[in-house]
Amino acid sequence: MGLFKPDNVELECASCKRTPTELGMAFFAEEGQTPDEYVWENEGTLDRLTGLFLCDECYIHWGMPSSPGAGWKATSGNLAALRMVHRDFGTWRPS
Ligand SMILES: [Zn+2]
Repeated sequence: MGLFKPDNVELECASCKRTPTELGMAFFAEEGQTPDEYVWENEGTLDRLTGLFLCDECYIHWGMPSSPGAGWKATSGNLAALRMVHRDFGTWRPS
């Protein structure tokens, strides 16, 4: 499908900084698929340029951001807009 993750892109939640492994994505990954590959192929908020996404807990905590048309992705611009609304963005940690 041409969806293979480049080795030089590190995946992490833009808010809590957890990686797909730390987020327990191995549970969802198919056989032979790494947690990173699972997120690369399935995470709707992933910005493939930066490797940033919002994990489910953070996405909900920060008000489930949306963008018209295409789904919301954790691009630099969208994250900057989120920080304008939530000055404490990135300080909250899921328990
Ligand atoms: Zn998170």
